[in-house]
Amino acid sequence: MANVLILGGGFGGVVAAERLAKTLAPEHQITLVSRSSRFVFHPALVRLAFGKCEVEDISYDLREAMLDRRVRFIEATAARVNPFESEVTLTGGDIVGDIKYDYLIYALGRRLATEQVRGFFEHAHHLLGVGAAQKFGEAARQFRVGHAVIGSCPGSRLEVPVYETAFALARQLEERGDAARITIVSPEYPSEHPGGADLARALRPALAAHHIEHLADFPIAEVTAEAVVSGDGREVEYDLLMLVPPFEGASALASTGLTDEGGYVRVDHTMRVLGAERMYAIGDAVYFSGPKMGHMAVRQAEVAAENLVAEIEGREPSARYKHEIALVVDEGGKDTVYLHKSLWEEGGKMVGRGRFWSWAKRAHEKYFRAQHS
Ligand SMILES: Cc1cc2nc3c(=O)[nH]c(=O)nc-3n(C[C@H](O)[C@H](O)[C@H](O)COP(=O)(O)OP(=O)(O)OC[C@H]3O[C@@H](n4cnc5c(N)ncnc54)[C@H](O)[C@@H]3O)c2cc1C
Repeated sequence: MANVLILGGGFGGVVAAERLAKTLAPEHQITLVSRSSRFVFHPALVRLAFGKCEVEDISYDLREAMLDRRVRFIEATAARVNPFESEVTLTGGDIVGDIKYDYLIYALGRRLATEQVRGFFEHAHHLLGVGAAQKFGEAARQFRVGHAVIGSCPGSRLEVPVYETAFALARQLEERGDAARITIVSPEYPSEHPGGADLARALRPALAAHHIEHLADFPIAEVTAEAVVSGDGREVEYDLLMLVPPFEGASALASTGLTDEGGYVRVDHTMRVLGAERMYAIGDAVYFSGPKMGHMAVRQAEVAAENLVAEIEGREPSARYKHEIALVVDEGGKDTVYLHKSLWEEGGKMVGRGRFWSWAKRAHEKYFRAQHS
């Protein structure tokens, strides 16, 4: 009997657990550890902030959902992973202490490294969690005049909620007849990161229609009570501020030598961790280039689960992950944009625009919830 341990109850961990439960012979044990027993559908957090849905619509209880699928769920924090002893140290939850595994899937996502930007914690809103999104939403509702700055810090690897927040705020202001300014701030030029130029080009008409300005090449180094400050000392004043903070890999693998300088785990295209035995890593936690997105975590989870089952059954892991962007930026109407682009191969690009994509994004959210909760 193999004892399979999955760390992290986000997109990657949940999909991996479900795939394994379906395909692994019943004598093997599957355990999912996560520090929260609720799964939150992150792409809906902008809609939550703007009062378009409730917390219950975008989250569900993992312990219950896993019980139905013969997966043991442990609510705890994985403080340290020792892949050379096949051991994980758990703290603060159902179990405190070391637990052993035969196979590990590491899906702890990324850490918000707010400490990298001075003043972020004190002055900036973000919306990368339920509480933070609700708090920002409240501030956005109070905002009627002045300048809203919405943006990303250097090292943040997520553009979709930046654009969606700007559009949602613009629509809210338009509906109330308020005349405030909105500026999107990005740390680099769109062409400097994978898929960025295509997305910026596709969104240009919608930004213009909502009078949203875009300030590129503004790497935020500091946030004061009145302004964001770039590394070279330029300042932009704000009255409302929402920033995606810098990301880093989770710290549980620190000092194992298995991560790059950002703390992200090095894996091959079968999702096996380079330099460790019987260990896979998936999702935001891995070191692939480009944005960090849920659909990538899902596909990587499927690949890892398939290969892990092969390993347990004595076959060579042969499923391979292909790195692609597939995203929808929901403008709330006809200017919603869909981008699909291969990141490891030439060609294979598709850009779509229209109300259909807004509907499709919400339908996907409902489908995901129905399938997994
Ligand atoms: C506002 C917002 C909008 C987004 N929009 C989109 C979108 O439109 N399309 C898209 O594809 N993606 C989108 N994303 C990105 C997507 O949500 C992530 O890429 C995806 O959640 C990554 O999945 P994951 O499983 O790797 O990590 P996560 O979903 O972050 O899951 C990690 C899990 O590990 C748990 N955990 C972390 N540390 C520990 C620890 N030490 N011990 C135990 N448990 C721990 C966490 O509680 C969490 O359950 C968005 C994200 C946000 C925040």
